[in-house]
Amino acid sequence: MSALPAGARRRTILLLVLVIAAGVGGRARADNCQLTVLANDMIQYNARSLQVDASCKLIELTLRHVGKQDAHVIGHDWVLARTADVAALTNRGAAAGFEGGYLPADDKRIIAATKIVGGGESTTITFSTALLVPGGDYSFFCSYPGHSSMMRGRFLFTGTVDVASTRATGADPAAPSH
Ligand code: ZN
Repeated sequence: MSALPAGARRRTILLLVLVIAAGVGGRARADNCQLTVLANDMIQYNARSLQVDASCKLIELTLRHVGKQDAHVIGHDWVLARTADVAALTNRGAAAGFEGGYLPADDKRIIAATKIVGGGESTTITFSTALLVPGGDYSFFCSYPGHSSMMRGRFLFTGTVDVASTRATGADPAAPSH
């Protein structure tokens, strides 16, 4: 590797980046950075845990309310926070009311949150993973009053080796990473 001219080495790295970028755009990786969560009139999500690969820089999340109840009757949202912050957010969120999304305004403990939707509606958000630490203890929940005890699950941001960390540690970028 060290015998290669600098230009060839750069091209090798560029090629690797392109290959990985193509992988991210491909089906398996793309699915991993996009999540769809269903919620219903029984005050349930269809998932008890969600997993996203730590190589995802952005996550696109769609919440779909597959029930029939109006948002003011059985509305749902999807909120992501550290597990340790969930209780404080749901306690303080009730005072914000429906218009405030049942979440404290501008609270930095909220990593991501959708609006509240009613039956037949869906909403999509895209959020950065910059605030997430791979392997951290995160949970998602519905902030609608009384729902979080039933509508809550673990959010797993799982670590993998990516190009940036490979280069940072000085490892040979041409070496197979898996
Ligand atoms: Zn709910």
